[in-house]
Amino acid sequence: MESEANDSNLANDKSKAPKVSRRTVLTGLVLGGVCAGLLLEDADCQDLLAPSRETEDKPKNGSKVPLFYSKGYNISAFGLEHLHPFDGRKYQKIYEALTNPKGPRRPSSVERPAALSEAALLKVHSKEYLDSLGDSRVLSRILEVGILAKLPAGVIDWRILKPMRLAARGTMAACRAALQMGLAINIGGGYHHADKDQGGGFCVYCDIPIAIKTLRQEGLLKTALIVDTDAHQGNGFANVARGESQLFVLDYFDESIYPHPKVKEDWSIPFPRNTDGRTYLSELKSTLPVALEKYKPDLVAYNAGSDVLDSDPLSTFRLKVEEMNERDLFVVETTRRMNIPLAMVLAGGYGKDSAIAHTKSIESILARFDGQTG
Ligand SMILES: [Zn+2]
Repeated sequence: MESEANDSNLANDKSKAPKVSRRTVLTGLVLGGVCAGLLLEDADCQDLLAPSRETEDKPKNGSKVPLFYSKGYNISAFGLEHLHPFDGRKYQKIYEALTNPKGPRRPSSVERPAALSEAALLKVHSKEYLDSLGDSRVLSRILEVGILAKLPAGVIDWRILKPMRLAARGTMAACRAALQMGLAINIGGGYHHADKDQGGGFCVYCDIPIAIKTLRQEGLLKTALIVDTDAHQGNGFANVARGESQLFVLDYFDESIYPHPKVKEDWSIPFPRNTDGRTYLSELKSTLPVALEKYKPDLVAYNAGSDVLDSDPLSTFRLKVEEMNERDLFVVETTRRMNIPLAMVLAGGYGKDSAIAHTKSIESILARFDGQTG
């Protein structure tokens, strides 16, 4: 049913990406220029400007399960972002669903991270790689939108990379909060195709390994396990983890899609094309508890991609929304039952049900673990 996989491109891997006309792009450029000035006045832009040390990140709102989010996570690049199937407003949709008057949280009970510092990025990435992000051609390849090569790199940094640095800080803050409080959720992050010296698959910064390495250097943890249920193999995280002691990866992925070839991981669980939810959940439930016993992590970083859904254009998984909900609740409950701290991040998800599925999962987790609804 699907097209042949492309070895080097996540977005073209399944050729269901939306088509955008030249007129749409030009209109977007004009409107984007107008909106850009307005966005500078956006209160959340303060997040991007506020320098603060990562060690100062502490949940301030008194919730049992801290949620991290900033409006600055969302990505818009004058309409050009629509050339990739990634929904740049997904995080906002989830946040708004969780904080509307009928939702489980109030806006005031959500933590607002600042952007990740260069010093933190350098914990994993090379200076050469970070410098290479000043080249629009490099960025257009990582972000899989060829026309971005025509834009100044500074504009791409402002509209796409800064949101990613902000969400990466949210991942670190969620990991830090999880170690203190047992469970925390970042409504963003999970850039698992980003490697030490290169990005790919719309992933620029290797957020989870950066967080784990930073917290380890602070003496806050020794052993960490990344549980990756995004539909794609997390090749970037896996490559970084292989060079780190006591950082392990357990990865459930669709073996028929990007990346090709797959890389070596501590524990890979590849699924064949068109795997349904029942098969997927059965495998997850039989293996996750074994992995937690085997690695005995001080922290689980849970990369909870929604591209496992049947409606996702980039994978062949067949999970229903309620099955993804069951997956997320199982991972969190199993880990917490063993008294292991867990930080959840959202990772990929490109279909029409992505935001609602994440919302339902987070609502279920909060209903189960959050005694205080904010
Ligand atoms: Zn994915």
